[in-house]
Amino acid sequence: MLRVNGLRRSFDGVFAVREVDLEVPRGELRAVIGPNGAGKSTLFNLIGGQLRPDGGEVVYDGDRIDRWPSHRRARAGIGVVFQGARVFRGMTVLENVMVGAHGVTRSGFLGAVTRAPRHRREEREILGTARECLARTGLSAWADRAVDALPLGQQRGVQLARALCGRPRLLLLDEPASGLRAAERAELAALVENLRTDGLTVLLVEHDVAFVSRLADRVTVLDLGQVIAEGTPTQVRADERVIAAYLGA
Ligand code: ADP
Ligand code: MG
Repeated sequence: MLRVNGLRRSFDGVFAVREVDLEVPRGELRAVIGPNGAGKSTLFNLIGGQLRPDGGEVVYDGDRIDRWPSHRRARAGIGVVFQGARVFRGMTVLENVMVGAHGVTRSGFLGAVTRAPRHRREEREILGTARECLARTGLSAWADRAVDALPLGQQRGVQLARALCGRPRLLLLDEPASGLRAAERAELAALVENLRTDGLTVLLVEHDVAFVSRLADRVTVLDLGQVIAEGTPTQVRADERVIAAYLGA
């Protein structure tokens, strides 16, 4: 589903990602972990299309995509939830999720909110998709609430629902559990677990080893822009280089 070869990206002459190789089979839940500054978000953005590499390649579902703009990658089925992503304040939960559905209909979200007659059918389509995605994240009961009123854990659920509205086949999540309380983390973990039963391939970027250990099929560990370990959660947790990288951070 996803193959990364010799990927490199530097900022002001300093490598954030250097010679990273990664292969994620269809249907796998892969975690990418590492201490702060390891290059996780840079790698994430190179795959999602927010950054271009200095070298190397990203192959998704057989296509070389590393020069594609992010919207083309989104249309091809790559969904993203960015690190520290915010909800759209002043909107309801449902409206927040509808924003994610615009890419899959012709006239888009603007058509839906301007309510031109020719957009009515698409508006219904967007609404339907948004309600479906809310149901998948267990948030249907909150649809008409102001999103600002929800606890952070549920706001993350809204972001997840929004990403699902783009009908992704590969979902990229950057530190979705950060800032959440233990109970919220458990709920988020259950949500992510459900997504993979739906056949989604997930790339989960996390700082927290414990959070990914219960979820991931395999874990790739980054440090200083390089892959220092890869294996099952149990294998990487016991790896001395991994322990050293985390203690050093
Ligand atoms: P992580 O997500 O693992 O914490 P990042 O990918 O955000 O790591 O950052 C990796 C390195 O690249 C860090 O040293 C960071 O300062 C640097 N970096 C990331 N993004 C930028 C940027 N836009 N401009 C300059 N330096 C950056
Ligand atoms: Mg990061």
